[in-house]
Amino acid sequence: MEKVEGRYHRQEILEGWNQGKIQQSTVLIAGVGALGSMVAVFLSLMGIGKLILVDMDTIELSNLNRQLLFTEKDIGEFKAKIAAQKLREINPSIHIVDLSKNLTEVPRKYFEESDVIVDGLDTFEARRWLNSLCVGLKKPLVHGGMYGWYGNIQVIIPYRTPCLECQPLLPRERFQKSCTPPGKKRENVEPPKFPGVSTISAVLSGIQAQETIKILLDLPTLIDNYLFYDGLSQSFTTIKLERNPKCIICSDEYRLEGIEYAIDKKETIRELKNRLTATLGLVAPIRVIHKTRFVEDDTKIEDMDLASGDLLFVYDKSLGKPLKLRAKIS
Ligand SMILES: [Zn+2]
Repeated sequence: MEKVEGRYHRQEILEGWNQGKIQQSTVLIAGVGALGSMVAVFLSLMGIGKLILVDMDTIELSNLNRQLLFTEKDIGEFKAKIAAQKLREINPSIHIVDLSKNLTEVPRKYFEESDVIVDGLDTFEARRWLNSLCVGLKKPLVHGGMYGWYGNIQVIIPYRTPCLECQPLLPRERFQKSCTPPGKKRENVEPPKFPGVSTISAVLSGIQAQETIKILLDLPTLIDNYLFYDGLSQSFTTIKLERNPKCIICSDEYRLEGIEYAIDKKETIRELKNRLTATLGLVAPIRVIHKTRFVEDDTKIEDMDLASGDLLFVYDKSLGKPLKLRAKIS
């Protein structure tokens, strides 16, 4: 009698594959839209052990041109919840946690237990926050982004490869303008309208899922390269990336010493905050802590007990950990 091949047989015969390893692995997918939902499908087909799906958005009619897991009867439902239901049908053996909440409200334990984190987000601010958190927790991050016919992928292995903050390739201005203004709920704000087509998300999400699996299997990944995909000319371009020795998120110098930041003794904390927004892209509300105390906006630097070399800790909305500034008073 002919032997029945197991569910994963065709991938198990791939060189370097380790199904047991994949079934013991956990992946967190931040954003279950065009990219994230498809990455979730691919990882489910491959038999990933556990998926944690995070998305606070609900399904809209305009998502249905490129988000395969959702249908018209799902409109108005949470993406994470519906995605989890459909993925359980695709592969009932996978443990799926769905969290219909803002990324910043997700308990840290879910990030800590993940082996890889996948970026399926759509704003620069959220990506920046996720990048800083992943670097802080030393978790591999598979970034993917797309715009119309084009897309990009970057694999971040904290302290080994460049992080998202190391290099200026992200079009920050465009994404920052579409972010939720401080104090406003996202649902009250017009969301960004990016052109998007299912074939481009299929290519990009396929690559993201593949990089995720290769990280889990210790196979060669895209590290140190930024991958651009041009769906019009059908070309892939890789750009070599270098770690930025002054990176405020991942450089050793920063981790040990903080970033040296010139501060005028005549300026106020409010003026310092404005400069931090302009120079480092921090997002209000910004809080400044010196010697474990919050410093009020009206405080002048010269009235503080602040000397060159002292550390200031700065908290804002865009980073998952505080920024460490080493004062250089002039
Ligand atoms: Zn970096």
